[in-house]
Amino acid sequence: MKCSNCSRDAIITVKWKEKSYCEEHFKNYFLGQVRKIIDKYGVKGEVAVAISGGKDSSAMLEALTHFREIELRPFYIDLGIEDYSMKLKDIAKKLTESYGLPLDIIDLQKEYGKGVSELSEKSKGAPCSVCGTVKRYLMNRYAHEISADYLATGHNLSDMVTFALNNLINVQLSSFRGIKPVLPGDQKFNLVSRFRPLYFLRDRETLVYVLSNNIPFSQDECPLSSGAPTLKLKSWVMRLEDYNPRALLNLLNSFSKIEEKMEIKDGELRKCEVCGYATSTRVCKFCRLLRRKTH
Ligand code: SF4
Ligand code: ZN
Ligand code: ZN
Repeated sequence: MKCSNCSRDAIITVKWKEKSYCEEHFKNYFLGQVRKIIDKYGVKGEVAVAISGGKDSSAMLEALTHFREIELRPFYIDLGIEDYSMKLKDIAKKLTESYGLPLDIIDLQKEYGKGVSELSEKSKGAPCSVCGTVKRYLMNRYAHEISADYLATGHNLSDMVTFALNNLINVQLSSFRGIKPVLPGDQKFNLVSRFRPLYFLRDRETLVYVLSNNIPFSQDECPLSSGAPTLKLKSWVMRLEDYNPRALLNLLNSFSKIEEKMEIKDGELRKCEVCGYATSTRVCKFCRLLRRKTH
């Protein structure tokens, strides 16, 4: 199959665009989807980039190196999940070195005494839910501590639709919010603005991007992921575009419209009595997980 824009062989077909692309034109398409967000929301300044060693965050970092208005501050959270975390840390180092960028590392075990495996055993919580709390907290905290203008995460279109559907399926309407490429932060509560550069890109597109650009990444599966219900939901979500190539884009659009009409009030935001970061309860989830006490 030939590229729709030139005479070279195509490496991918992007169904919703009804186009096939060669390496070069796919890269243009990919960066164009990121550019759409940067231009619309006027993203600029210092951006803390959460690197996990997986394909999405690796693709995100490479893509962001093409935008001069952004200063990159990549960081890696070592979750203390056996060899898996060690291997991903090496990938994150290799990735950032290849762009001449320094990498900050936050080591959960060293800095807080316990890794995710231990924390989920102790709290009897599902590993992914414990891990989610830890990552959300540490990512925002890091971005705030370095006074970044944004915190960038590698969530792609397939992730966002899975996240929203999962909340609908579980009637978690209060979590059914924030389905946007950029979310403003709140300085009063030490909340940094969120930026999702891959918001308009599918799982398969980020995979083809890292492969065709020789970007370091790992495809290892987390040993704690087995049985995570969202994995099944995600593989189902990824098939929706066989039925309608615009299904994921349209779903996100519909979710955003529903969100705008929702009348759910925020549980009043306040500062955690232990750490001072945003929470809706007296002590935030992260501090409760670590059983940190108020002084
Ligand atoms: Fe964390 Fe679950 Fe992802 Fe493993 S699969 S890194 S436990 S969220
Ligand atoms: Zn081409
Ligand atoms: Zn706290």
